[in-house]
Order: sequence, then C-alpha cells, then structure tokens
Amino acid sequence: MKKELILVLNCGSSSVKFSIIDPIEEITYIDGIIETINNITSLKIQDFINNKKLFKKFDKIDSYKQLIILIFDILHDKYKNYLNNIIGIGHRVVHGGKNLKKSMIINSSVLLEIQKSSVFAPLHNPFHLLAINIALKKILKLAKVNVAVFDTAFHHTIPKESFLYAIPYYFYSDHSIRRYGAHGINHFYVTKKCSFFLKKSINQLNVISCHLGSGSSITAVVNGKSVDTSMGLTPLEGLVMGTRCGDIDPSIIFYMIKELGISLDKAQKILTKYSGVLGISSISNDFRELEEKYNVNKKAKLSIDIFCHRVAKYICGYSSLMCGRLDAVIFTGGIGENSSFIRQKIIDKLSLIGCFIDSKNNLNNNKKTIFINSIKSIPILVISANENQIIAKETYNLIK
Ligand code: ADP
Repeated sequence: MKKELILVLNCGSSSVKFSIIDPIEEITYIDGIIETINNITSLKIQDFINNKKLFKKFDKIDSYKQLIILIFDILHDKYKNYLNNIIGIGHRVVHGGKNLKKSMIINSSVLLEIQKSSVFAPLHNPFHLLAINIALKKILKLAKVNVAVFDTAFHHTIPKESFLYAIPYYFYSDHSIRRYGAHGINHFYVTKKCSFFLKKSINQLNVISCHLGSGSSITAVVNGKSVDTSMGLTPLEGLVMGTRCGDIDPSIIFYMIKELGISLDKAQKILTKYSGVLGISSISNDFRELEEKYNVNKKAKLSIDIFCHRVAKYICGYSSLMCGRLDAVIFTGGIGENSSFIRQKIIDKLSLIGCFIDSKNNLNNNKKTIFINSIKSIPILVISANENQIIAKETYNLIK
C-alpha cells in the first residue's frame, strides 16, 4: 500500500526545519535544517530510511523566500520518492491569537487571522505566512491540504484567572491582551509521551512541563490540559532566557525611557536581545559556554544561578495548581534535554514538592527518555522535544 506522508515546515526567525513523517507509524523519514550563520548558508538533511546524510553549503542567502524555495527544490531533486507520497503539509505557527484555538486547514480567513496575530509574534508569524504562501504555490496539488498547527492552541484551556492580566478589562475585551503562552506543541507532545511512560491516561495526568531552550517556558498541566504557562502575551514573559528578560517589574521600562532617556525601540531591543543570561553574564546566551565558566567566572555563575532560581520558583508555584497530585516533572528543550548540570541545580531546590534526583541517572545523558528521579521521589523525566510528530499527526487527522 502506498505510504501516506506529511511534510512539516517549522520556520523560525533564523532557520527553517523540515521533516517528512509517516504520521500513523510515527516514523520520521527525513529531518532537515537550513540556516545562515556567519555569511554561509548551510543545508543538512538526514535520511533515516536510507541512513544517508546530505550536507550542502551556499553563499549567504539573505532572502527567507529563497531559503524556502531551496527546500522545495532539493526535495524535488533528491527526495522525489518521498515527495510523491506526501498528502499534506503541516506548518508550525507560533501565534494563533484569540480566535485560532486549534489546528486549521489553511484558507484565506485563517491566513488573515495569522496575519493579524503577527503583532504578537513579529519575529515568527510573518515568516510562517511567507512559507505557507510558497508551499501553496509550489505543490499545487496539495494547496487544499496545508494545515496550520499553533503553539498557542494547547494553552486555550487556561482559565481566566490565569490568562488575564490585572489591567483594565477592556484591554482584554477590546484589544485581546491576555496570556497566550508558547511552546504549546511541545508541551503537549511531552505530556503525551509522559502518559505513555507512566502508563497513565493523559486525561488523568497532572504534570509540570519545563521546556528549557534558547526560549524557555513552563506549563502546568492538569488532567492533560494546560492550566497555566509562564510565557504571556508574547514569548518575553516568564523565565530568564538566553537573551530575553522574562518577568520584570514593568516600571523598569518607564524608568529606562523617562529617567535614562532610552528610546522605546532601544528598550524593546534591550529586553528581547540583550537581556537574559547574556545580559547578566556579558559573556554568552549559550548555556554550554556559561556552564564551562561557572566555576571561574562570577557572572557566568550568577546568570545560571538566577536562571535556575526562576525555574524552581515557577515549578513550585505551579505545584499549587495540581489539585493535590503532581504525577511528574518533565525536562525538555536544548537545555532541559542536554544539561545534567542545570537539571541538578534546579531539582536540588524542589525537595519540598517531593522531587529528588538520582545523580547517576541524571548524568547518563544518552538522549533517550530517562527517569532521573531517585526512589523516594515523584517521577522526573527527560523527554526530547519533537514538535514535528504532533504537527504531522494533527495535519493527517484534519485532512483525512
Ligand atoms: P530553541 O529554543 O531555539 O529551539 P533549543 O531548544 O535547541 O533552542 O535550545 C538551545 C539552547 O540549548 C542553547 O542555549 C544551548 O546553549 C542549550 N544547550 C544545548 N546543548 C546543551 C548542553 N549540552 N548543555 C547546556 N546547554 C545546552
């Protein structure tokens, strides 16, 4: 029987990731990434079926449009067998705004809503729109089966007491200002995986999911549904991140502008691009580098300590939302999956909520899902992020 495959496009602000996935068997055929670093554009594709890798370098490609077109051209030239079996294209979309609460087959009104939500995700939604428009034209026979899967959708179950800001109500009712959250596709994916590993129905599962990467967020999940999350109207709120400040007193912005004469644009840049662990350490936004310098550089140490403090504070705060039973804490994302050092520092602060680490298992970083809790602890799991599996499945379910 002919395989039915889904092409997934995951467009970030500086790279495009893509996969071809069998959504039924949950098998990834290929994974690819194209990105431009230091004036060189590189394309990497791993073909898991034939166990082959492709690596190509190009002179810097500035235009995002060209990057996407290149992906389609390469797929057409080198992976035609797979391309012929594709029955739909799933697009990760960071912000679905107030109205797009679940995955949608893309039509003109969905495109309009994604465009309207760009104001809340200016570094992402415009790129998604570009990719969608190219995909619609490049594979015409699939033009009616492009699906948008939203990072905000999982968080639409959050109740009002959590998603509303304590500012005049009309900012919500008239201007849609509320907490939307992010990373929802992966928070859902790891929750599902956790339900599998704990052999417990997702509808009865209470977990705290920690997605720690260059952008980081924590989600409280009760009975399989998101009930609170640390990112807000935009991905700037919440944890300390690579370059983003996370929670701050809003008066800091007034002070910067009124007392220090900093322009609004500059203040925005400072809080999004020059803050977080980069801002504190003045060294790097890369946690690997900060970890290396932890014992020899005071600011590297301070930046990691502040990061871990904030994560632990959120986890313990969210434990109060678990209706009396926390089934597991999950670590995912580049830092959550790879840094045993940071996991240890965070978990050491969680004894009050029954989390204790098994240091040996924690160090056993073999990229497989692992339990890193000790016997007396509630389960603590490390689960690799995999948004594309969920996007493929949602796409398949919608178009079949
Ligand atoms: P994104 O949010 O862009 O998807 P990732 O989830 O891939 O990012 O996470 C990137 C972050 O993960 C970077 O800050 C990087 O330093 C960190 N990271 C990756 N591997 C390690 C490691 N072994 N130790 C510490 N940090 C790591």
